[in-house]
Amino acid sequence: MIAPHAPSLHGLPRRAIQALPDALISQIAAGEVIERPASVVRELVDNALDAGATQITLRLQAGGVRLIQVEDNGFGIAPQQLVTALERHATSKIRDLAELERVDTMGFRGEALAAIASIADLTLHSRSAESTDTHGWVLHARTGELAPVARDVGTTLEVRELFYSTPARRKFLKTDATELAHCVDAVRRHALVRPDVGFVIWHDGKLVAQWRACTRSPFAHALQQRVQDVLGSDMVTHSLWLEHTRQGVTVRGLAGLPDAARARNDRQFAYVNGRYVREKVITHAARSAYEDVLHGHRQPVYVLFVELDPLRVDVNVHPTKIEVRFRDSREVHQAVRHAIDDALAQPRAGATHSSHSESPAPGTGNPYSAVTHAAAGYSVQDLSALWGADVTPASGLTHAPDHAATDSGAAEQASAFGQYALPVAAPPSGESHAIWPLGRAIAQLHGVYILAENASGLILVDMHAAHERIVYEQLKHQFDAAALAGLQPQRLLIPVTLTASDTELATAAAHTHTLTQLGLDISPLSAHTLAVRSVPAALSQGPVADLVRSVLHELEQHEAATVLARARNELLSTMACHGAVRANRKLTLEEMNALLRQMEATERSDQCNHGRPTWRQVSMKALDALFLRGR
Ligand code: ADP
Ligand code: MG
Repeated sequence: MIAPHAPSLHGLPRRAIQALPDALISQIAAGEVIERPASVVRELVDNALDAGATQITLRLQAGGVRLIQVEDNGFGIAPQQLVTALERHATSKIRDLAELERVDTMGFRGEALAAIASIADLTLHSRSAESTDTHGWVLHARTGELAPVARDVGTTLEVRELFYSTPARRKFLKTDATELAHCVDAVRRHALVRPDVGFVIWHDGKLVAQWRACTRSPFAHALQQRVQDVLGSDMVTHSLWLEHTRQGVTVRGLAGLPDAARARNDRQFAYVNGRYVREKVITHAARSAYEDVLHGHRQPVYVLFVELDPLRVDVNVHPTKIEVRFRDSREVHQAVRHAIDDALAQPRAGATHSSHSESPAPGTGNPYSAVTHAAAGYSVQDLSALWGADVTPASGLTHAPDHAATDSGAAEQASAFGQYALPVAAPPSGESHAIWPLGRAIAQLHGVYILAENASGLILVDMHAAHERIVYEQLKHQFDAAALAGLQPQRLLIPVTLTASDTELATAAAHTHTLTQLGLDISPLSAHTLAVRSVPAALSQGPVADLVRSVLHELEQHEAATVLARARNELLSTMACHGAVRANRKLTLEEMNALLRQMEATERSDQCNHGRPTWRQVSMKALDALFLRGR
């Protein structure tokens, strides 16, 4: 006896093959494209933007289930075209394959209106800029009734009773408040990339959001203003503006500071040629750029606008166009990673001078010029001079002195930094603490924190965390300079064998050079097995098969350089932790000042290797508030 749900070739009478009715085809298409009210909102706002609208008003009732109305001031639809607009696969946006390949409109599939009309009650009001009529027309999709209506140039689409004809879908909807939130999200995604367009959202007669059109130039300033309006000024003050072009891929936008990272990934916006996308190449590139400065599983925040020749992107891979495919995803990956990496690498201590300004205007003051400030506040010193000659990963790491915490005496002070001892910096004279971003050291607190005075007030430094980062960055430089040779391999007495998939075997064969640089000697043993004969010396104690699998997996997905950099970072970070000064070391003022100057000159020195902050500013204002001064 066959279970009732099992497909049966024998139990059912054969049925003839026949074409599906139009309405059902549209409902099937709607199933892909329209998941909830927010999907309708997205499609209608897409259409309004494609029509050149500069003002878009959204009115919702009951989370959009009862009513979604989108009104625009775009060029409208000619009266004789209204009926055609609702037909399946009817579009004004592309004519042939060549146009599809370089499409620059949001829509092009000609499906949205037909799909929406098949599952809701749709009314289309429009007055075309080109028509000589002094009024517009209204078309009721269900009845096909067309009538004149008074209105200005532009289009209004009204969608009532969503999913009335497909009640199964309706059951999946959440509360009105949740559906409303999704609708607002959908508009937000459009709004972020189109500061030149004004948006207003109403829900049940109440104003929910209003973002005014901003035509500031350059466009970057308008974008920054819009990010501030839509995501709040915190998003802007805690990010760095970046702009970076590489191999014809331009990346602009805001990269949040590591401190601004969140538990959820709900503040990650990526756009490709103006289209909001969820794209794993970009997400991964951003993730890897942040990897070195983020703590635990914190999620970075960013708004990234990626631009490249439309011929290098295929936007026709997903019915809702939320995914795209890049012809060369490595180039995009590199551009995004480098853009963020470069922005984050600059130490930000120099920005403290301007961090008083409570609400800096976009394009001025702290948030956008932080990088420039940091570089201008002091002269970048030559790291190798600071560090003394020849600390190499091989010698420096394995023989790093044991810094086990002891209650140190005077004799130990001079060598508190051990192997990584610094030449003592000249003591700051006169006003110099005013120009040094991290100021002049004044004391050490419980062997853990350095206190320093700068122009803004008090600076607190976690000395172990800061020194660890300095050692780590130093090791990275040395490793790259020496590198060449790659990681030191350790031959295994008995080769480790592991079963491998075809993909893993192919990846191992294609990347022998990179694998060798990583200290890995991997070769095929049979059609399904790999033999590992050497692993990086520093990792020889770990589970070899896991290491190999994860390296192969990474190599398969990403450029070899990324994999190398990651492996390098992981090793060196562990090593740096052992080389850095421990807590409970007494430091002299000279040593503390030397550490501060090094921090100012070291990339990523605002975070320790694990992503925690290395220093904090307590402004005079904050101190005054603490003592209720000046009230
Ligand atoms: P697509 O956007 O993929 O072309 P749609 O079903 O969304 O398909 O829309 C069909 C056509 O209707 C569009 O190509 C466009 O010509 C017209 N249209 C839809 N909405 C608007 C609007 N707000 N303003 C002007 N024309 C519109
Ligand atoms: Mg459309």
